[in-house]
Formats: sequence, structure tokens, C-alpha cells
Amino acid sequence: MPANILNLQQYRVLRVEETDHDYHVTAEPVDATSSCPHCQSDRLTSWGTREQVFKDMPMHGKRVGIHIDTKRLRCQACGKTFSQALPVLAENRMMTDRLAKWIGQQALKRTFTSLADETGVVEGTIRNIFRDYVNALERTVRFETPKWMGIDEIHIINKPRCVISNIQNDTIVDMLHNRNKDTVAKYLFKMQNRDKVQYVAMDMWTPCRDAVSAVLPDATIVIDKSHVVRMANDAMEKARKGLRAELPPKQKRGLMHDRFVLMKRECALNEQERLNLDGWAKNYPALGEAYRLKEDFYGIYEAGTPEDAMRRYEAWHGGISTEIRPYFADLIRAFTNWQAFILNYFDHPVTNAYTESLNNLIRVMNRLGRGYSFEALRAKVLFTEALHSHEHKRPRFERKREPEPVEMGHGLPDDAIGYGVPVMEKVPSMGSPETYGPHKHEKRDKNYGVDIPTLIRMIEAGEI
Ligand SMILES: [Zn+2]
Repeated sequence: MPANILNLQQYRVLRVEETDHDYHVTAEPVDATSSCPHCQSDRLTSWGTREQVFKDMPMHGKRVGIHIDTKRLRCQACGKTFSQALPVLAENRMMTDRLAKWIGQQALKRTFTSLADETGVVEGTIRNIFRDYVNALERTVRFETPKWMGIDEIHIINKPRCVISNIQNDTIVDMLHNRNKDTVAKYLFKMQNRDKVQYVAMDMWTPCRDAVSAVLPDATIVIDKSHVVRMANDAMEKARKGLRAELPPKQKRGLMHDRFVLMKRECALNEQERLNLDGWAKNYPALGEAYRLKEDFYGIYEAGTPEDAMRRYEAWHGGISTEIRPYFADLIRAFTNWQAFILNYFDHPVTNAYTESLNNLIRVMNRLGRGYSFEALRAKVLFTEALHSHEHKRPRFERKREPEPVEMGHGLPDDAIGYGVPVMEKVPSMGSPETYGPHKHEKRDKNYGVDIPTLIRMIEAGEI
């Protein structure tokens, strides 16, 4: 008899045929069905067979099919007919349980087409397995609710999506398919321990603000500096374009050439650029004023308190000439409408590290996603274990000799203590080896979500 190349103890291998691309393994269950599943009677008679083929894990680079002559049986006691029991097979999918599980895991890293090619399973089935797998992960993978939550817009697969993050840990905790009030509100409402959220940083998007105010009424909304000063840059751009119209052709070209100087912060200009800027300001005072207003607006963010910031803003606002005002109208309107939330920043600033991470993520995100739906992409990002902050990577391939020592809460933010995180208390019964093992540890380890710097690195390396 051929050796059990399937490595499935529940089946006896009867025959193995090998072709260029496939293994065809004929097998039968070791345990015969001996009682009726309906009435438990053991008076069964044979009622024919039907040949079934179940796909299994690819082996030696070949597709594997398990051929089974499944017995039909009839119960003499209750008269019902049924098929013999086939352990470890997913009969709805016509494959082994282990193949279904493997496909689910692999589909996070690979395209459905390549999996279909390798296993011989049709793509539609792979898509269904993936969906079930993701649903199961949703139930088991639980990210910690952030104390400092970010709600940001990122274009993913041609649409603005909503990225929910943990600002202190620099992680993503979810991605929503759009930024509607309803979508955001539903998400926040379903979130476990949502009262843990104390601060929500966002851009100036009213539907988001409405959702947060409705579901998290006690959370403080903060508008990050980057979103506000960006509008000062935009105003400068509008002024440049507006004033350009009045220039003779030669100066128009020159202004086109020097537009980067106008966008730069004053402190970042080199000597030549500073000279260029002075030239423009002297010859075209309106342009000089727009630049000054842009720079002075940045200056508001040097304030130490909300009151100081408000004083600086009022002084800034009071100094705008009628000629330049229209270019800064959007910024003034935004500041007026969002004033309280913009000023909250001065009491509760968002970390630069997070703002930078997010900008980097926006930069690389469009490389991700070719050939995937948003749902598949979201699952890839959220459930790829290698990305999880504070979860253990797959262990090295090695024999275990001694129990590994328990690592104590590495990489936690400095201020982690104080929001109820990591009292990584020692297990009282230090004597037994089970208390050390990775499983025990994983259970106590909190998962903060998808580490954004690692995600960026993996996207750039083409590993996701
Ligand atoms: Zn029966």
C-alpha cells in the first residue's frame, strides 16, 4: 500500500497517480460510518457509491485531488439515506479543511488568480473562502480602542476612504469604504469601549465632525495643524495665480519659475531664493503681502495657548488688505467655522510623528491595490499579522529546547501608563512551562493595530 502521502490520519491512501501537473490520490476514510446520524441505529445497508474529488494542499509544486468513492447508506430503522461521514473535508467547498484555511491565509498576500492556478480551485470559490476568512478574522482580531483617535481621508482605489488610527501608537485600526456621516457614526457606535476615546483628530470635514459629536459627545475634537496651514499655502497659490494675470509675459514666466520660492517657508529659503523673493515683493507688493500673510499664519502655530493663538489670529486677520482678502477667504471661513476645534490643538497637539506617517502613507498608498477590491485591500492591511503592532511574528523554524523568557511590554509609548495599558504583570505560577509559551503571551499581549511605518516599508518593498 502506498505510504500516506496526504499526512491525514483519518484517510487510508489506496493509490497515487502522478502527472506533470497533478497528484490524483485515491483514498477512503479509516473509520466506517457505523450508525445512523438521524436515529443512531446501527442497522445500515449499502445504498451505492458516488465518486467525489476533493482538492487538497498543493504538493511538490503540483495540484492535489483526493478521489473518494463516497458510500451512500440506508438506515433500516428510520428508512433515511445518507452519505458516510468524511472527516476533515469541507464538503460545501469540495476541499480539505486545511486547504480552505490555507487559501484564506494566502489570499491576504497573493492574488486570487495565482491561488486558483496553484490549487486548481476556481477563482469564485477562492473569493468566497476569502470573504468567510475575513469575517472570521473580524470576530477574532481585536485592536485596542485608541485614546487618541485619528480620522483621516486617504484616496484608495480612486475614492476618498476613511482611515481610523491610533495616533499614540502610530497604527491603523480600521478603514471605512467612505467618509459619510452614517458610515463613520455606525463604525464608532459598534466600537468596543468607545468611551475610551478622549481625543479625535480629523481634517475639516463636517460629516465626520457630526458623526463624532453624535456618538462620542465627550471626546475632544482637534483639527491638526497640517490641515489648517495647508490652506494658507493654497491661499498663497491662489494669490500667485490671480496676480499673475496682471503681469507682462516675461514676468509671468519668471513668476512661474519662482513659484516654489513662494511656497517655501521663509526659514527654509537660501540666499538666492531670499533675493528672488525680495525682488518680487518690491516690484509687486500684493505678492509680497500674500507671502507675508502665509508666513504669519504659520506664526499663529507658535502660540503656547489657545488664547495666545486667538490673539495672533485676530491680529493676522486685521492686517489683510482688501485686495488680498479674496485669496484668503476660504482659510478665514474655515477658521471661523472650526475655530474651537482648531484652537483645541494648542492644548492637545497631534504628534508630528503621526502626521508624518500619514503623509508618507498617502504617498505610497496608490501603489497598493492594483487588482484588488477595497474589501480585499482593507483585509490585507488590517489582518496581515506581520504588520500588527505588538503581536508576535511567526517564530523561527527551530526545535524548541527551553521555554523562552517572556518579553516585557516592548515599544510602548512613554505615556502608555496612565491610560490603562501595560501592566504586564508576571504570571503567578512561574514554575510551570506553560506560563512561558508564546500562546500564553499572545493572549495577554494587546494588539494596537497595523503599524504604519511597517506598512509603508512593506508597500515600498512590494511585500504586500
Ligand atoms: Zn436511522
